[in-house]
Amino acid sequence: MGNSSRFDKLSAAAFQESKRVIPGGVNSPVRAFKSVGLTPLFMESGSGSRVTDIDGNTFIDYVGSWGPLIVGHAHPKVLEAITATAAKGTSFGAPTLLETEMAKLVIERVPSIEMVRMVNSGTEATMSALRLARGFTKRDKIVKFEGSYHGHADALLIKAGSGVATLGLPDSPGVPSSVATNTITVPYNDLDSVKLVFEKFGEEIAALIVEPIAGNMGVVPPVAGFLQGLRDITKQYGSLLIFDEVMTGFRVHKNCAQGLYGVTPDLTCLGKVIGGGLPVGAYGGRLDIMEQIAPAGPIYQAGTLSGNPLAMAAGFATLTLLGEPNVYEELERKSAKLQAGFAANAAECGIPSTINRVGSMVCPFFTETPVINYETAKTSDLARFNAYFGHLLDLGVSVAPSQFEGMFVSTVHSDEDIDLTIDAHREALKRL
Ligand code: PMP
Repeated sequence: MGNSSRFDKLSAAAFQESKRVIPGGVNSPVRAFKSVGLTPLFMESGSGSRVTDIDGNTFIDYVGSWGPLIVGHAHPKVLEAITATAAKGTSFGAPTLLETEMAKLVIERVPSIEMVRMVNSGTEATMSALRLARGFTKRDKIVKFEGSYHGHADALLIKAGSGVATLGLPDSPGVPSSVATNTITVPYNDLDSVKLVFEKFGEEIAALIVEPIAGNMGVVPPVAGFLQGLRDITKQYGSLLIFDEVMTGFRVHKNCAQGLYGVTPDLTCLGKVIGGGLPVGAYGGRLDIMEQIAPAGPIYQAGTLSGNPLAMAAGFATLTLLGEPNVYEELERKSAKLQAGFAANAAECGIPSTINRVGSMVCPFFTETPVINYETAKTSDLARFNAYFGHLLDLGVSVAPSQFEGMFVSTVHSDEDIDLTIDAHREALKRL
């Protein structure tokens, strides 16, 4: 299916133009709609739960800039914080009071974090956390899970999920094999495989990095005991446990996934929500480990724009809104309603379906196989997903153009938005 005619005009022309000057026409691969075979929509504006493209089409949006916009587009409090801060200057390359305030707030809310360093993206956060883990343990190997995406640093771009899964890229050209040999991958939710790997290489493993809820093979919750098992094994071998909460941080619980499941890692990576839509990442954790980072310690990591005032202001405003009463309860209620509506639609239409969800991360798969790892996520009928995606857009609902991503419900999706989305979903399934 091509885009229907209402999408074809300005966005299509803009894409032709951008492809001449930007690789694939986009600054991040999945945005190109390549796997779903459509022309990407160029966005003009966003407000609350809605986005409007340059052709003037408005959609109920569940992409939320791929996770950061948990309080919706252009939230007045976030805008106010950004503009007030910008009026005083956009960057100094010197410490500001806001950075300490932000660090204190993150430390207060994230159980594992006693000290935190701000960076500019999730990729920087995971890359820096790995260097820290290696420097601290004086070991080289790391363990990650198949279909997990931790950003595009060399060591982590091995059997990765998200855009790498969507485009079917193997391990990317440009990743040296010498780097790849130090990355061990195992299936998600498979504690026995983790045990075997540690029995063999335990003394050489600096860290195990995990998305406590996988969000880059679609949404895949940890099975009972999985995260605690990882905690126990890593402790036994003196390896660090790193939770990559770039997606789950402040998304699933006020105290992140580690608060939800009651398992405390040594280091935590954050991004997305903590930047409120501006470029931010962060990594933090145990004091004795964090104090090894320069200039407190010898492990080097730096950034011209790290702790940028605008990003800190947007993040602080977002986290403040998330600190209000009942925020996560309401996200849970609306997201559960969406999940139940989708399940009823699938049953009504006789479409094989598994709908995974944790809090406001919702993911309908086109398979009846329970989705517990990347192998089972791949049992989803991708051709069916691609057609469904196009129908949903036609019906005014924007979701990520990939089966291997979840939908993000925000605090500003109204009950009416949820009802309209369930109706659109039913109609999309009927059109399949
Ligand atoms: N880790 C996880 C779990 C992610 O979902 C992402 C991005 N989707 C990243 C790391 C990388 O973050 P960024 O795109 O900001 O570099």
